[in-house]
Amino acid sequence: MQITEIYKSLQGESTHAGLPCVFVRLTGCNLRCSWCDSEYTFTGGVRMSSEQVMQEVVRLSPNGGLVEITGGEPMLQEHELVPFMQQLLDRSYTVLLETSGERLLANVPKKVIKIVDVKCPHSGEGDTFDAANLEALHAQDEVKFVISNRADYEFARDFTAQHHLAGRVTAVLFSPAFRKDAAGARDSSHCLLDPQHLAEWLLADDVPARLGLQIHKFIWDPAVKGV
Ligand code: SF4
Repeated sequence: MQITEIYKSLQGESTHAGLPCVFVRLTGCNLRCSWCDSEYTFTGGVRMSSEQVMQEVVRLSPNGGLVEITGGEPMLQEHELVPFMQQLLDRSYTVLLETSGERLLANVPKKVIKIVDVKCPHSGEGDTFDAANLEALHAQDEVKFVISNRADYEFARDFTAQHHLAGRVTAVLFSPAFRKDAAGARDSSHCLLDPQHLAEWLLADDVPARLGLQIHKFIWDPAVKGV
């Protein structure tokens, strides 16, 4: 696999936020979201065998726990990734897969918890989610929307209702987008959408979703990578 970085930190998002987690960040992405904070994954990286990646995961977290597969878009390397995720499951790791859902997810092992980041219009990559992946969602999975403005919010709200997401997955997450050049202050001043506005919209419309904040950007300088 082509790997940008492997590191241990706290999970910053999803229902697993706050838990220790090993992140395996794969190189390469076929999307170009306007607020992407992971552009350094688009190129470069190092070639590692599954055995080498597993060795590093075991070194960082020898007693099991959470492993997140992320990127970039990890499913671009599906051929090697799918068996690797099964190996992690066989070693009793809890595996999270962060993906845009632009690639088909039918071959992802069922016990992998998919966190599917459905792109909203203002990302510049709206309409990239493959609707066939709705059938690949399982009860333990999560669907996330990164929201920059009211139009994004309304897209996410309507998508959630139209596809009955709350009944399909364990959590629907609405997260304010962060500026990609955020640095310094560890507060919500870097959010493209004030979390207070998003909270109030969610409450007003009684949306069956939870507000998600990227807590690592409130713990460490948002410009710091590898945390
Ligand atoms: S899918 Fe993720 S890594 Fe790719 S451009 Fe969008 S935010 Fe960045």
